[in-house]
Order: sequence, then C-alpha cells, then structure tokens
Amino acid sequence: MGVISPKFFMKAKKSLGQNFLIDKNVISKIVTEVSACNDDLIVEIGPGRGALTKELKKYNSNILCYELDRDLKNILQALEDDKTKIVWQDFLKSNIKDDIKDIKYNKLYIVGNLPYYITTPIIEHIMDSNINFEKLVIMVQKEVADRFLASPHTKEYGYITVVLNYYFDVSRVINVSKYAFNPVPKVESTVLRLIPKKDKINLDFNKFKDFLKKCFSQKRKTLKNNLKGYDWSKIKTILDKYNMSENVRAEEISGEILIEIFKHSL
Ligand code: SAM
Repeated sequence: MGVISPKFFMKAKKSLGQNFLIDKNVISKIVTEVSACNDDLIVEIGPGRGALTKELKKYNSNILCYELDRDLKNILQALEDDKTKIVWQDFLKSNIKDDIKDIKYNKLYIVGNLPYYITTPIIEHIMDSNINFEKLVIMVQKEVADRFLASPHTKEYGYITVVLNYYFDVSRVINVSKYAFNPVPKVESTVLRLIPKKDKINLDFNKFKDFLKKCFSQKRKTLKNNLKGYDWSKIKTILDKYNMSENVRAEEISGEILIEIFKHSL
C-alpha cells in the first residue's frame, strides 16, 4: 500500500475529528470519483493537511475549501493560488451560495472527509443551501453508509435512509480500512457518492421530514400509533392499495410508498 509518511501527522486534534488520509490508493479513488474539468468548481470540506486537495489540483478546476482549524494554515496556504482558495470557517455555518457567487464555473462537485459526528448535519446543510451540484463524494463511518443504503425490513433502515434516498441516488464507491488513516480511528469507513435526483417528486421537503420523523419516532410501534393526529382513513387507502396491514411499521415501507402516504395525508 502506498502511504504518506506519518511524520507529517503531528498533533491531530481529536476534538475536530482529525484522522488524516495516508493511503494513496484511497486518495486516488476519491479524486477519480470527483473527476472534474478545468472550468468546474470543487468545494472541499475539511481539507486537513491537503491530502485530497493536492491531488484534486491536478484537474486545474477552481477549488474552494472550508477548514475550521487555523493551525493548518502553514500547510494549506502553500496550496492556495489563483484557482484554489481556503475559507477558514466552520462549514456548518457557511453560506455556500454566497461564497461561490463570484466564481465562474460550469459544474459543481463537493467532496469531503469530515468528522463522522457531523456527517448528517453536513449533508443537511448542503441540501438546505439550495445549490445545484453534480455529485457529493463523502467519507462516512461504514455503519452510517449501511444506514444510508439500507432496504426496508432491515434494522439499518430508518428516517435518514428515506430522506437521503428521496433527495439523492446514493451508492458506495469503496469501503476503507481504518489503517488508511493516521491516527488510526476506531471505526471502518466507506466513501459514498450522492447524486442529486433530477426528477425528485415535488413536495414540501420540511413537512416531509417532519412526517418521516413521526413515522420512525418509535421504531417498534406501528405507523398508526406513530401518526396520531393524521387522517388515518386517507393513509389506509394507500396501505390497502399495496395490500399492507393496518399494523404495518414504517421500517417495512419503502420510501416511494412513504412519499405517497405523505402526499395523501395532507
Ligand atoms: N480531508 C483531510 C484528509 O482526508 O486527510 C482531513 C480529514 S479530517 C477527518 C477532517 C478535517 O475537517 C480536519 O482537518 C478538521 O479540522 C476539519 N473540520 C472539522 N470540523 C469542521 C467543520 N465544521 N468545518 C470545516 N472543517 C472542519
């Protein structure tokens, strides 16, 4: 395995989830997955010591990075030039639309290897920012990837599965061993590609998320129990259409049918 020498990885900050990628094969897979052109824009979240940034620069695209840790300035500023800029800010507090408004670009790609405790907030922040982009390539904890990719009737299937699969086509790029990082984390990882769906069913996304939160609020309870306050007769019409029992639980219902139930329950 080609690795970057660990001597570059002093003083990683646990509080910022700093596990730096050192496996050149994994870095290369992620960069190949982004696959941008020189008139495109890549937003990188959490560049760290620039393991991905250095390779992404080969595309000669515009690159905008968000990094929270100013102690990395010496390393990252060396990568800055006409087309590569670092924003020293918490990505979760960023206004992406505003930050990219003066950059001329054709397609937008987003890539990140971030602390796993903010995986879902990061994806939600990107969805809430209302920007058009081609693809999000993101490293996540393997268990979280399994939840994003889960099918009904499995214990991994839940609220986040349905929300993400409404918005994106989600697929696995590669599983990544914990030894691809320095320091070595406790968990295994997966790189995912999330491609925004072009033909999303038109609905009020915030209301849909509230509805799903209720559907999955108590996983062992039936949908009927979790959806008190909704017009059950309307919901039952959809369940009947798919020959589903009144005692069905949300974890047994596909995202497509949950969307249909949501639309009829309004
Ligand atoms: N991308 C680098 C790599 O693959 O080696 C670094 C990965 S490290 C897991 C995560 C990076 O995200 C760290 O550099 C950390 O300082 C940064 N970070 C953590 N929280 C952040 C936030 N809210 N906004 C921007 N960067 C953040």
